[in-house]
Amino acid sequence: MERTRRHTQVLIIGSGLAGCTAALTLADAGVEVLLINAGERLDDGNSALAQGGIIYKSAQDGENDAKRLAEDILVAGHRINRICAVEHLCRQGPFCVESVLIDRAPVPFDTLPDGSFRLTREGGHSVPRILHRADYTGKAIMDSLMAAIEAHPKVTCLHRRAAIDLLTTHHHAKDSQHRYEVMNRCLGAYVLNEETGEPETLLADWTILATGGVGHVFLHSTNAPGCVGAGVSMAFRAGVSLANLEFMQFHPTSLFEERTNRRPLITEAMRGEGARLVDKRGVHFMDHHDSRGDLAPRDVVAKAMLEEMLRSGDPCLYLDTSAVRRDLETGFPTVCKACREAGIDVGHEPIPVVPAAHYFCGGILADIDGRTSMQGLYAIGECSCTGIHGANRLASSSLLEALVWGVGCGEHLARMAKDGPTLPNDLMEAIPDWQHEGDDKRDDPALIAQDWTTIRNTMWNYVGISRSSARLRRAFEDLRDLVRHIHDFYKNTRITRRLVDLFHGSQTAYVITQAAMRNKRSIGCHNRID
Ligand SMILES: Cc1cc2nc3c(=O)[nH]c(=O)nc-3n(C[C@H](O)[C@H](O)[C@H](O)COP(=O)(O)OP(=O)(O)OC[C@H]3O[C@@H](n4cnc5c(N)ncnc54)[C@H](O)[C@@H]3O)c2cc1C
Repeated sequence: MERTRRHTQVLIIGSGLAGCTAALTLADAGVEVLLINAGERLDDGNSALAQGGIIYKSAQDGENDAKRLAEDILVAGHRINRICAVEHLCRQGPFCVESVLIDRAPVPFDTLPDGSFRLTREGGHSVPRILHRADYTGKAIMDSLMAAIEAHPKVTCLHRRAAIDLLTTHHHAKDSQHRYEVMNRCLGAYVLNEETGEPETLLADWTILATGGVGHVFLHSTNAPGCVGAGVSMAFRAGVSLANLEFMQFHPTSLFEERTNRRPLITEAMRGEGARLVDKRGVHFMDHHDSRGDLAPRDVVAKAMLEEMLRSGDPCLYLDTSAVRRDLETGFPTVCKACREAGIDVGHEPIPVVPAAHYFCGGILADIDGRTSMQGLYAIGECSCTGIHGANRLASSSLLEALVWGVGCGEHLARMAKDGPTLPNDLMEAIPDWQHEGDDKRDDPALIAQDWTTIRNTMWNYVGISRSSARLRRAFEDLRDLVRHIHDFYKNTRITRRLVDLFHGSQTAYVITQAAMRNKRSIGCHNRID
């Protein structure tokens, strides 16, 4: 096959913790894997940004430990979680942490002087059970995994490959006989090679979507730049079932920099250690909103901040760190570094902060093995909805979900792959390469920038922390028109990365809005004010 057309047993789209874990599990079982990602390095997603940690187990190991964790997850998720998925996570979690992150790709988690792990506790957890490496746990995990993957002869990594669309029998097979198959089947993906500027046809017996979050369809987000819901949008266009799309978790404090849309996370632990939210005059306001003050739950603090900002018209609020009880540089090195880069002298001036879109609890509906409603297509990690999180996510459970589903999906596909390739030659030949339909017009950066401004402001103001029928209806109408325009523009313009991201982001925003309109009940991180 030519370079723009390849066949692989397993194609993994996305190289965060979920994608890398699945790749390593498959490769260790002897399966050939093609791992692609949009950025220049494997750790370009949210996984490397994780600060707090990953759930392991409490010091009192045993059956009750898994039950206690399940109860904490159900309470955070308002009990609309998928119970069998929660039980699976709680049972398998400690084994997956041990087999992958302690034995196979050892991560230097923090330990106590006696050599045991230093376990911490976060909001919503009934016991200390979280492993961490200072406040850069995600980076430590990704460094170890990347070293294992990059040394593995069974894994081919391709960077700067942005997936455009899934290939399916119903949508793409030229031979009409294949379109009579009752079950639509995923056959891989069209992927833009940013180095050549050309779309490639990647055919695969099995395709795993591990494309991460959707944060950047909102004005403010803590997420890595490429998180615009590529997996959700491709699955939606292919007719794959999606679930819980209205449940977007917002974090109260991200660093606000006027000149960029970078919003690094300012950890909650700072408020735990005495930092206080204030307005631009230095006046503390949280006590007027909730008796728990600055330490009220995330959704309460984020809502109070939004009200303050709407009332004053100010673009941000501030975190006064003067009363923090720990040394800032040693206690919060990641926060201090982000502030320094933004020109803020932490310790001597308050940190400008805004709430930001943080974690997507919904996504592509997937079962215990990561199987979706389409044959041959799997979804794992933040782009999937396994039902673990229900209406809200328990802190530090998402890295564990990415790990457990990466292992489970990898093991499941390794068993399937034992019998060799499953895509018949005639079906592969029936899939055409990408057709340039347009007249090769260049994309226009001004149009793209304006469309993103519209999407992000619409999502922030109408589909954000507080939602009402009127706001959602307005967002629905605006996004419906915009999606139509972008679709026409996309058809007539030579494909570029900017255009692929815009196309994915606009459709993701549109399907989130529709889900938020359908759910009239305020629950978890879906907050209806009418
Ligand atoms: C600032 C921050 C702090 C966090 N802290 C914690 C924490 O302490 N504990 C915890 O449990 N969770 C935490 N989370 C959440 C957690 O990090 C994520 O849920 C998890 O890492 C998601 O992993 P993933 O593998 O699904 O996706 P990611 O790690 O985001 O990887 C997504 C991958 O998909 C690729 N991709 C996207 N679009 C395309 C495309 N079109 N084509 C090809 N590739 C594509 C990207 O290039 C990337 O490689 C945090 C999140 C953030 C943002």
